[in-house]
Amino acid sequence: MVFMIKVKYGIFSDIHSNLEALCAVLDDMVSQGVTHPICLGDIVGYNASPRECLRLVRELNCPVIKGNHDEMVADLGDARNFNALAGEGIAFSKKRLTNADKAYLSGLPMNLRISNFTVVHSSLDEPTKWNYITTDLEAESSFIYQNTQLCFCGHTHVAKVFAKSNGVRELPKADKLELKKGVRYLVNVGAVGQPRDRDWRASYVTYTPGASLIEYRRLPYDIELTKRRIRGSGLPEPLAVRIGMGA
Ligand code: ZN
Repeated sequence: MVFMIKVKYGIFSDIHSNLEALCAVLDDMVSQGVTHPICLGDIVGYNASPRECLRLVRELNCPVIKGNHDEMVADLGDARNFNALAGEGIAFSKKRLTNADKAYLSGLPMNLRISNFTVVHSSLDEPTKWNYITTDLEAESSFIYQNTQLCFCGHTHVAKVFAKSNGVRELPKADKLELKKGVRYLVNVGAVGQPRDRDWRASYVTYTPGASLIEYRRLPYDIELTKRRIRGSGLPEPLAVRIGMGA
């Protein structure tokens, strides 16, 4: 008898030290039957639980990509690219992580080919420059380097999909996306720990290759606890306010 393992990926990004949001996503991945989690980076920065989030992600023993906040906390990046609030989150994460944690973050890859798709934190054109893909034109630049039908990214904290057939266009917002032959896709999975699309709930996607299907998941969690922990740890008040606004 041949046993077929039904592969289902759970792809998540931008946890940003938000333990409550990460736990909601990990629980949901179990209930959705995810067999292969993948983390697109920015595990740390901004919120109150960098150490706990890093530990949980490492325990998944899954592919993990480097984000710009991971790079900064590992002392590799250029602080001039960060605003004051982001800088406070970086300094907080740095204080709470061990040298071994930082060495782990600094050793993460910028992008990976996994099975028949690609994953990156920001964009495939010069990933080390941390470009933001918000427009069709910016997506076009990344598509030039996309040798697979499908690529997943994060970084902007806004869940959206760009499709390329003749030209590049952003697809209307939808919970499900069925992949069509002859079309390439760049899928931003949104953010777990600090969404910026006016919806505070944690965002991630599942991808079932056998069904050519991507599903967006949005998950409520105990955000009041997250805010209390931000305030209780001495992080700036605006960081607690912005996660509640999804901004
Ligand atoms: Zn981020």
